[in-house]
Amino acid sequence: MEYVITPVAVTTLAVLGTQARFPVQNIYCVGRNYADHAIEMGHDPNREPPFFFMKPAYGILPNQGHMTYPPQSQDVHHEVELVVALATGGQNIPVEAAMDCVYGYGVGIDMTRRDLQAEAKTLSRPWEAGKTFLHAAPCSDLVPLSQTGVIDRGSIWLDINGERRQTGDLQQMIWKIPEVISRLSMLFVLQPGDLIYTGTPAGVGPILRGDEIHASIEGVGELQISVI
Ligand code: MN
Repeated sequence: MEYVITPVAVTTLAVLGTQARFPVQNIYCVGRNYADHAIEMGHDPNREPPFFFMKPAYGILPNQGHMTYPPQSQDVHHEVELVVALATGGQNIPVEAAMDCVYGYGVGIDMTRRDLQAEAKTLSRPWEAGKTFLHAAPCSDLVPLSQTGVIDRGSIWLDINGERRQTGDLQQMIWKIPEVISRLSMLFVLQPGDLIYTGTPAGVGPILRGDEIHASIEGVGELQISVI
């Protein structure tokens, strides 16, 4: 294939146990998927339909990466989340078939310019300025579902400079992973290589330049990044 401009290289993530890499396509994120986080953000924790937003693949920052503190914000927050990586996609995927699409799991952080997100909410504008920037989506190496089995419980936590900031359990998700995949596929065309950030437990808060961030999900792995 000859292109009129040079195409941007595919963003990839390492996969545990193989030299082969996972090619990242689209990044979907679920809003308010843990009741205690919905409450801390001032929302009703009842089972309102899930809603979604996206981040570009250039937001990916791998394990051991250095996160550049993004511009135009004084209040960047961490949100530790289970990441689900898709091997196959489709539309209108039934809940019962949704897990067949899953390649594996990762530990991610939905980095958020909270001040810009708050402004967008106030003005009823889109969330991109709050959610999209370079290094907005740190993600660990992936682990294949063939190694872990289905993961629907287990502790999830995030430390900054050795101090626990977020803690929860995957069981607390309001919308379970098969439901999230099914719902996404009703709205969008899911594709192989898509990542889904599945929401964050309570304890979100600011990050600062110089912070060492360590996140972990039981049975999935670890993610360590530093903020520069
Ligand atoms: Mn989030």
